[in-house]
Amino acid sequence: MRCRICGKKAVYKELGFCSEHFSAYFEKNVADVLNKPIFKDKALLLAVSGGKDSSAMLYAVSKIISEERLDFRIKRIEALYINLGIKDSSSYNENIVKQLSEKTRIKLNILNLEELYNISIDALSQKTGKICSSCAVIKRYLLNKFAYENGFDFVLMGHNLDDELFFAIHNLVNRNIEFLVRSSKILPKDEEKRLAGRVKPLYYLTEKESMLYCIINKIPFSDKGCPYAVKNLQMTEKSKQSVLFDSRNKKLSFIKSINKLKKFYPIKQEDNVKPCIKCGFPTTSEICKFCRIIEKAKEN
Ligand code: SF4
Ligand code: ZN
Ligand code: ZN
Repeated sequence: MRCRICGKKAVYKELGFCSEHFSAYFEKNVADVLNKPIFKDKALLLAVSGGKDSSAMLYAVSKIISEERLDFRIKRIEALYINLGIKDSSSYNENIVKQLSEKTRIKLNILNLEELYNISIDALSQKTGKICSSCAVIKRYLLNKFAYENGFDFVLMGHNLDDELFFAIHNLVNRNIEFLVRSSKILPKDEEKRLAGRVKPLYYLTEKESMLYCIINKIPFSDKGCPYAVKNLQMTEKSKQSVLFDSRNKKLSFIKSINKLKKFYPIKQEDNVKPCIKCGFPTTSEICKFCRIIEKAKEN
C-alpha cells in the first residue's frame, strides 16, 4: 500500500500514510486542539508518565510550539512526572521521562509521593482492593496542586480517543450522565475553586497512533506496564470495546455523536463544592478524597 499523499510506502495502512505524512497528521490533530485563543499567553504543564501516550503528547506539543505552528505564543511549557512508589515501574519510568525531557528540552519537574507524604502506591495496595481508584485521586490532586501553586493555567493530559470511548461507554452503562456531560477536551481554569484548566491534546488520536508516532520519531517510552493494571477495569474493558469499534473512524464517529447529544443536556452547576478543611482544595465533602487517603494510610 502507498501513501495517499506522496506515494511512498505506507506505514499507517488504516489511513494510508507514509511515516512523514503520518507524523504530520498526528501533529495537526494535536495542534487543532491547542490552536484556540483560550491558550494565548498561558502557562502549560504536561503530565507525563513515561507511557506512549504522554510521551507522544510531550514530543508533539514541544515540536508544535518550538516551530511556532500556533497562531499565538505560549507563555511557558514544562512537564511533571509523579513518582508513585511502584517498585516495578516508577524509577524505571522516571528515567524514561528524563530522557524525554533531554530530547525535547522541556523542563521536567518530579514529585515523589514517598518523599512528600510518606506513602506509596505499593504500601497503599496492601490496605485497599481498589488501588487504581486511590491512585487516580492522588494523581489528579497532585497535578492540580502543582499546577495551581506554580502558576500554570492548564494541565495537559495524555488521554486519547480510546480513553474517551471507554469513559463515554462506562458512564452510559452506569447512567452517570452528569459525569459524561461535564467531560470535555478542554476544561477552563477556575481560579476561585483553585482548579487549573485541563486539556486532552490526543482527544482525536488512538492508542495505536500514539505508539506508531513514538516508534517513527524514536521517542523514548516505557514498555513496563503497571503491575496493578490487571486489576484496572479500564484496561480490560478497552480490549473488549476494540472488538466492536475496530477502526479509528468508528471511535471518532461515536464520540462526535455523544458530543452532539451533550448539547441538549443542561449542565447542573456543582453548587456543593467547597474548600477542604485540611488542604483548601475543592471538594464536595468536609475533607477531600486525597486528604482522606493520606489519613487512612497513616492508620495502622
Ligand atoms: Fe495507578 Fe492503577 Fe494506573 Fe497502576 S494501573 S498507575 S495503580 S491507576
Ligand atoms: Zn507520504
Ligand atoms: Zn484536602
